[in-house]
Amino acid sequence: MPKPSYKRILLKLSGEVLMGSQQFGIDPEFVAELAREVKAAKDTGLELCLVIGGGNIFRGMAGAAKGMDRAQADYMGMLATVMNALAMQNALEQCGVPTRVQSAIEMDKVCEPVIRRRAERHLEKGRVVIFAAGVGEPYFTTDSGAALRAAEMQCDALFKGTSVDGVYDSDPKKNKHAKRYDTVDYDTVLAGNLKVMDASAVALCRDNDIPIVVFSIRERGNLAQVLAGKGTQTIVRKG
Ligand code: UDP
Repeated sequence: MPKPSYKRILLKLSGEVLMGSQQFGIDPEFVAELAREVKAAKDTGLELCLVIGGGNIFRGMAGAAKGMDRAQADYMGMLATVMNALAMQNALEQCGVPTRVQSAIEMDKVCEPVIRRRAERHLEKGRVVIFAAGVGEPYFTTDSGAALRAAEMQCDALFKGTSVDGVYDSDPKKNKHAKRYDTVDYDTVLAGNLKVMDASAVALCRDNDIPIVVFSIRERGNLAQVLAGKGTQTIVRKG
């Protein structure tokens, strides 16, 4: 893999990515495949932080729409992200990548609490750090958790691996003339309510000048491509 121009990145994966071709939950074979891609990225010398969503298991909004108390449902969503983090830690360690999980909701039997200085040490020692449970509070998403950790860990960029290959000026599923941006500035994304990440996550990246690279993680090898500045992607950055 060609050497990327970043030193430290945060990779955010939607929980849905872990489903592979399933409709729900975790497909261990697909997670193993993702882990190999993460390993290849790390082997180029990158320092890697990971945040994984929980949408493959539970989303607070979905629970609330069916009558649940929103905060209670959000806590369930946060617990789902811990399960995904543990699945990814397992897959990464099975391919030889030392990995630590730090959760914003403390659960010391299964992982560490979020401690920034300890996370720094892990990265220095060549470990991948997976930040779980988002920001640890309801009414937020793992996108906000990703932006927060990217800022806190001084990452050079936030890579958002999802099922679409970038940011469009309108929904490409509804409008066949939708245009994908190669680059777009934060304020255009916010003003147009373009579906990249939630607004608080985009604003946090804007205020801390962290570029957001949106790409599809579904095609094999694409992470390597975008890290090398190739492949299909959209970079959200200062105008
Ligand atoms: N969540 C939360 N606070 C956070 C992060 C996540 O309440 O800081 C909950 C929220 O209910 C969310 C769920 O966890 O729907 C799963 O996260 P998300 O929807 O961001 O996952 P993704 O869409 O990336 O798979």
